[in-house]
Amino acid sequence: SEFVKEEFSRGMLRTKTVEDILTPLKDCFMLPSSAVLDFSTMSEIMQSGYTRVPIYEEERSNIVEILYVKDLALVDPEDCTPMTTITKFYNHPLHFVFNDTKLDAMLEEFKKGNSHMAIVQKVNNEGEGDPFYEVLGLVTLEDVIEEIIKSEILDE
Ligand code: ADP
Repeated sequence: SEFVKEEFSRGMLRTKTVEDILTPLKDCFMLPSSAVLDFSTMSEIMQSGYTRVPIYEEERSNIVEILYVKDLALVDPEDCTPMTTITKFYNHPLHFVFNDTKLDAMLEEFKKGNSHMAIVQKVNNEGEGDPFYEVLGLVTLEDVIEEIIKSEILDE
């Protein structure tokens, strides 16, 4: 019945975490903050097909900003604008969530905020040294919705 189906996906949203559904860092299309918005970089961004591109400093695990592809509308590749000129101008907020965030909580966060992407991090205390935040990847509203749809189809 509809009720059972609804309860099934609600249960899934309460138990699954963002870590279960994220796009791993190694598969993320990102660019360094040192990038220059010349013809080659802008084509690379367009060809990636993504609407949002995390920007990192020094290493991929250090995401510092986010570029929206629409920010490039007024950028002329001839100008070779530094990436940071654009990211500092638009200054879109970055959202971080912990790996154990449940999908229902994540969905609420996405509904509240205006950003539909979050960077997933975990506290890594496996090594000898001090615990540190480790970035695992990114999750978007699309990933959560896909999970809901999958669970509804499986249930049929
Ligand atoms: P887009 O609007 O760019 O297609 P969505 O939010 O619709 O992004 O997400 C579609 C899928 O792509 C999701 O699985 C999401 O985790 C992934 N994704 C979004 N942005 C990136 C990116 N920059 N690099 C790699 N994967 C991404």
